[in-house]
Amino acid sequence: MASTVTLEKTTTIQSGDMDDVGSPKTAMKSPLLMKGRKVGEDDAVADKCCGHKKNKFELVSYDKIPEFLKHNEFIVDYYRSEWPIKEALLSAFSIHNETINVWTHLIGFFVFLALTVCAATMVPMEYEAPHYSHLATTSTGLANITSNAMVLRSYYTSSGPSVVATIMKAPRNVSVETDLAAAALSPAPGHHHRVARWPFYAYLCGAMFCLLMSSGCHLLACHSEHASYVLLRLDYAGITGLIVTSFYPLVYYTFLCDQFTQSLYLGSITASGAAAVAVSLLPVFERPELRWARAGLFACMGMSGLVPIVHKLLVFGDRPEALLTTAYEMAMGACYLAGVVVYATRVPERWMPGRFDLVGHSHQLFHTLVVAGAYAHYLAGLVYLGWRDMEGC
Ligand SMILES: [Zn+2]
Repeated sequence: MASTVTLEKTTTIQSGDMDDVGSPKTAMKSPLLMKGRKVGEDDAVADKCCGHKKNKFELVSYDKIPEFLKHNEFIVDYYRSEWPIKEALLSAFSIHNETINVWTHLIGFFVFLALTVCAATMVPMEYEAPHYSHLATTSTGLANITSNAMVLRSYYTSSGPSVVATIMKAPRNVSVETDLAAAALSPAPGHHHRVARWPFYAYLCGAMFCLLMSSGCHLLACHSEHASYVLLRLDYAGITGLIVTSFYPLVYYTFLCDQFTQSLYLGSITASGAAAVAVSLLPVFERPELRWARAGLFACMGMSGLVPIVHKLLVFGDRPEALLTTAYEMAMGACYLAGVVVYATRVPERWMPGRFDLVGHSHQLFHTLVVAGAYAHYLAGLVYLGWRDMEGC
């Protein structure tokens, strides 16, 4: 009896599976030996003997992912499907179709964190005494200014050209303190303290929140339907937050001396932001076919920014600060608009499905455009601060 069994096994190995790997052991389809095979290689046997466990961390194609992960049929492969949180987190460092989506906004988040720190240390505080000695009393201060010339140039373009000129021209062995003090101690008439900082920092926080939520959503939504649902809501709330807080510097500083207009605009945009978050909480909002509705809602909110911008130009059209900030805002608008169009049309992957799965698909382009647009608006914020610090009301 025993010898018969041995004979049968030998026969099976020799006739059926010798070409498999060459070793008789691999020919016997034991559950233990199935590990490491790819999904789809032998699904029937795999499912029967091991269930899903063995292939848990394989990347799968669009037709194998659950409904909640199906957002874009033109991205054909390299999906993570229902991975545990730990593996999903670690997948930030591996290649799949969300890797670049995660990193475009994660890097954007760190860029904005750096810009916030830079602004907090380089731009004078709201309640600081009105002198510029902290910027240039020592040669270290002078070196800092030069290394952060980008920020300061933006800030001082409108706030104190004479101060900048003094700083930049002065040789290091000459005490610039006297000149600076003289320049800074003669502020605009009626201007006793600097303008409020909160709208500018609210915007930076809005941008960081948006970028971080987006990054987290792309990284972890593959975990489960519930995680996807919660994270997508946070992602939409982040986008809304970015749009709403983008209005704050524009409206607050432009209409600093017109409380009614200022409150009207700030109130309207905050209310519509709250409404947009409420709408995005509806389950129907994330259906793939409502892609245009989602893009439309955010685009409408963004486009409503044209109202205060046109208003600004009507009132302050002759001011260089108004023109410069408008140029930055137009750059931002162009980036966001291009981003929304790319997001909604799913170009280029719709032209060549599967070709842009890892690199170059619409969502990555959309992310990059969002970061670029947000940066343009940051520059506008610096100009607003400089303008109102110098001029007040
Ligand atoms: Zn995204």
